[in-house]
Amino acid sequence: MNQNQQLFAAAQKHIPGGVNSPVRAFGSVGGTPRFFKKGEGAYVWDADDQRYIDYVGSWGPLILGHTHPKVLEAVIQAAKNGMSFGAPTAAEVELADLICEMLPSIEQVRLVSSGTEATMSAIRLARGFTGRDKLVKFEGCYHGHADSLLVKAGSGLLTFGNPSSAGVPASVAADTLVLPYNDVAALEALFAEMGDKIAAIIVEPIAGNMNMVQASPEFVQAMRKLTEKYGAVLIYDEVMTGFRVDLHCTQGLHGVKPDLTCLGKVVGGGMPLAAFGGRSDIMSKLAPLGPVYQAGTLSGNPVAVAAGLATLKLISEDGFFNQLSIQTKKLCDGLIQIAKETNTVFSAQSTGGMFGFYFSENIPQSFADVMNSDRSKFNAFFHGMLEQGIYLAPSAFEAGFVSAAHSDQDILFTLAAAKKVFMQIK
Ligand code: PMP
Repeated sequence: MNQNQQLFAAAQKHIPGGVNSPVRAFGSVGGTPRFFKKGEGAYVWDADDQRYIDYVGSWGPLILGHTHPKVLEAVIQAAKNGMSFGAPTAAEVELADLICEMLPSIEQVRLVSSGTEATMSAIRLARGFTGRDKLVKFEGCYHGHADSLLVKAGSGLLTFGNPSSAGVPASVAADTLVLPYNDVAALEALFAEMGDKIAAIIVEPIAGNMNMVQASPEFVQAMRKLTEKYGAVLIYDEVMTGFRVDLHCTQGLHGVKPDLTCLGKVVGGGMPLAAFGGRSDIMSKLAPLGPVYQAGTLSGNPVAVAAGLATLKLISEDGFFNQLSIQTKKLCDGLIQIAKETNTVFSAQSTGGMFGFYFSENIPQSFADVMNSDRSKFNAFFHGMLEQGIYLAPSAFEAGFVSAAHSDQDILFTLAAAKKVFMQIK
C-alpha cells in the first residue's frame, strides 16, 4: 500500500467514510482519495510526494493559488495578534466596507464561517422579513446542508445518487419547492399559483454544483420580476461564483440587483469565512436590531478576515479578472480543440476563473441535461488525468477552477495530458 492508501485505511477507523466532507471520498469516480500535505501556487503534493496541477483549489476559494505570499503574510500577522476575540475588530469593519463597495446590491453584510451558514441565515432572514414560509430552489443547485435545502440537493448527494438526506423532517422539506433550472414557464406557473406564500427564491446564478450551468437571460429576468411583483426576496447564492467569475460577481455580469447575496469561498481566501448581505431594510431585521436571530462564536474571525481582505485587495488589481478569464478560456478552448482532433464527444465553457467540461455534444442548460452526459467517460478521464499529474474535481457534477498561479506552461502541460487521455479512453 502506498501512503495515500495507508492514510485512507487509517482515516476510516475514526472518521466516517475516512473524510470530513463526502465528495472527497472519490465515491463516484472510485479509487483512493489523495491526502495532500502541501500546496504552492498552482500545485499540490500528495502523501506519496506526487505533484499535481490543481484545478479544484479547495473547491473554489484559492483564486490566487496555494499559499500566496501576501495572503500568508496577512494571516500570520493576524494570528500573532490573537486567533479569536469573539468581539468586534477593525478588520471586520474594513472587510464589510470593501464587500459593500464591490457589490452595490449589498448595503449591509454579516460575516459567518461557512457557505451553509450564509444560505441558512439568509433564508431565515427572508422568512422573517416576509412573514412567509415557502422557499423556491432549483434542481441541481446546492446551497449547503441546512435541512430546508437538502431537498433534491446537488453536489455530493447527487454524486451518490441520493436525491435527499435522511434526517430531514418531511414538514421542513414540504416548504421547499424545487423547480427545474432555466424553466421560466414553471417559475411563472408556481408564482401564479402561490406567489403570496413565497418568502424567497434562492439560486446559484451560475450553477456550479451540477457541473457548470449558466442561467439564461430570460430566467434571470423572470426571477427578478416575479420576486418583485409578489414581494418575495431574491437570494443570489454566490458562494461559489462570488469574486470568482468577475470582480462584481455574477450579479455584475447579469446587471441584476438581488435582495440578498450569499458569499463564501474566495471571500475568505481559503480560511473558514463566508457572508450574507443585501438591502438594509431586510438586514436590519437581524438581531440585535430586529427579531431574526443569527449568531456565531467565530463569526468575523480575525485570521479569516485577514485572508479575505488580502485576497479581495489582490483580485481588485487592474486587469486581474481579464487575465484570469483569458487563462481559463485557453484551457477550455484547448480541450475543445483536442476533443475535435480525437473525435471525442465533448463541450466546455468558462466564466472568469470558473469552468465546466462535459462529455456531451452541447453545453447543458439544466440538471436533466447534465445527467445525460457520459459519466463513465468522465470517470475514465478523471483517473487518466490524475495519473498524468492533473487534479480535477472527483465528480462529473462539479465545476473546475483556474487560479492566477496557473501559468501558460501549466495549461499546455494539462492539454498535452488531456490529449493522451482522450486517445486512451476513446
Ligand atoms: N452554496 C454554494 C453555491 C456552494 O457551492 C456551497 C459549497 N460548495 C455552499 C453553498 C456551502 O458552502 P460550505 O461548504 O462552505 O458550507
